[in-house]
Amino acid sequence: MTNGWRFDNTYSKLPASFLSNTSPTPVKHPELVILNDNLVEELSLNFSKLSKEDLSKLFSGNLLPEGSKAIAQAYAGHQFGHFAMLGDGRAVLMGEHISKNNERFDIQFKGSGKTPFSRNGDGRAALGPMLREYIISEAMHALNIPTTRSLAVVKTGEDVVRENILKGGILTRVASSHLRVGTFQYIAARQNKNDLQTLINYTIERHYPNIKESKNQALDLIKVLMQKQIDLVINWMRVGFIHGVMNTDNMTISGETIDYGPCAFMDIYDPETVFSSIDQQGRYSYSNQPSITKWNLARFAECLITLIDEDKDKAIERATEIINSFEKNYELKWLNMMRDKLGLYGEDPKDQVLILDLLAWMHKNKADYTNTFCYLMNEKVPQDKIYKDERFTFWEKKWKERLKLNNNSEEKYLKLMHKVNPLVIPRNYKVEEALQAANKDDLIPIKDLLKVLQNPYDSNVAEYINSAPRDNKKYKTFCGT
Ligand code: AMP
Ligand code: MG
Repeated sequence: MTNGWRFDNTYSKLPASFLSNTSPTPVKHPELVILNDNLVEELSLNFSKLSKEDLSKLFSGNLLPEGSKAIAQAYAGHQFGHFAMLGDGRAVLMGEHISKNNERFDIQFKGSGKTPFSRNGDGRAALGPMLREYIISEAMHALNIPTTRSLAVVKTGEDVVRENILKGGILTRVASSHLRVGTFQYIAARQNKNDLQTLINYTIERHYPNIKESKNQALDLIKVLMQKQIDLVINWMRVGFIHGVMNTDNMTISGETIDYGPCAFMDIYDPETVFSSIDQQGRYSYSNQPSITKWNLARFAECLITLIDEDKDKAIERATEIINSFEKNYELKWLNMMRDKLGLYGEDPKDQVLILDLLAWMHKNKADYTNTFCYLMNEKVPQDKIYKDERFTFWEKKWKERLKLNNNSEEKYLKLMHKVNPLVIPRNYKVEEALQAANKDDLIPIKDLLKVLQNPYDSNVAEYINSAPRDNKKYKTFCGT
C-alpha cells in the first residue's frame, strides 16, 4: 500500500560530502495530534485506508513510507554572525515526493532523533514548538507568503529535557527543497570546486531551470536569489512578521520562509520589535530584516566567487555590484507593496512621505499594525478611539486626496487593499492559548485557530479581529531546540 507516496530521492544521490545516511529513531508511544487534510490532498496522498494508529506510526518515523530513503543533510551557517558547520541535527529528509502534477516536495521529519550532525543535541523537539511551527507556517501559506508547510504533528510519548521536562513531538515538514544559503556555505568551506559546481547544477535543475543556459550561472544565481529573498522579506514586512532567527542556515534557496522557531507577528507598530529571548542586540528585529537579508546574500555570493570569474578581483567586483543593488531594488518593491496596502494606484512623488507619515504616527501612538489597515478598509476594529487623533485625521485627509488620482474608486481601492491587508494574523496570545490547550490534550482551540487563519483576507472573522491586541513588549519567544 503506497498511500500515494511517489518518492524520487535525487538529493540522496549527491556526493557523500553533502549528506549522511541515517534513519529516524523510533519512539515509544507515537500518537497523531494533527494531520493537514488540505495538504494531504495537495500532495496527492491518500491515507483513507490508514487507522489513526498507522498514521501515528507513519508520522513518527516508526513505520517508514514506501520508497523513502532517509538522510540528514549537511549545511553550515552564520548564526548571529558566527560561522559554524551544522547539518540536520534533529531532522531527517525522508525523500522527495512527486505529486500528481509532477511537483517535487521534500518530506522531512523534524524531531526524529539523533543524526551524525547532532553534536551535543538529543535530536528531539518538544511538542509545543512543533505545533507552533504548524500554526504559523500554515498561516503564512494562507497569507500567500512562500513557506515550508506542515503536514502532521505527532506526540512521541517520550519526554524531552529542556529547562523543563516537556512532551516530545515530531513535525512533518514539506518544502520545495531544504537547500539553504548554509548548504552553499558548507560545500564552499570544503573548497572542492567540483562539489560546488554539482550543487549549482542541482540547484538550477531543481529551482531555476530558466538560468540553465546562462553564460555565468553563478552570477545569475545570486541575482535570482536576491529577487526571491527581496520578495520574501517584503511579504514579511507587509504582514508584520518577524522571523527572529535569520541565520544563513535558515534562509532557503527556493525563497520559502523556513524555520519557525522564535518568530512572531508584531501587534503594535514598532520597527525595533524583537520577540526572541536570545536576540539581545535586536539583530533580527522587524526593521533589520531587509539589511540582514542583504548580509546573508553577501555570504551566499562569497561562496560562489571561484565560479564567477577566474580573476578573483573581477569576480568580487561583479558579485559586489549585484549585492549593492539590493537597497534600490528593495526600496522600489517596498514602496509598491505599501502603495497596495493603502489602495494607491500609479505613482505620485509624495507617496513615500505619505507612507512614512502613517508609519511614524502608528509608532508614536502605539497603533496596532494590522488593525490600522483594517480601520482604513472600514472594518470594525477594537480600540478605534486612537483614530480620532487629530494628526491621524489630518493624514487620512491627505490619503483620501491621493486616492482620487488614477481613476481610482472606493470599490477599486478596497479590493486592492483587501488582497494584501490581512484581517487576522496569528496573534501571539491566541497562539499561546491554543498551544496550552493542546498540551492538555484539548485540540479544539488549535483547530478553531487554524480554521480562522486559513482565510485571513476574508471578512467573516469579525469576532477574531475584535479580540484586542496586546503589547508586544510582554511577549517572548524561544528557539524551541
Ligand atoms: P535551528 O535553531 O533549528 O535552526 O538549529 C540550528 C542547528 O542546531 C541545526 O543544525 C539543528 O539541526 C541543530 N539542532 C537544534 N536542536 C537540536 C537538537 N535538539 N538536537 C540536535 N541538533 C539540534
Ligand atoms: Mg534551522
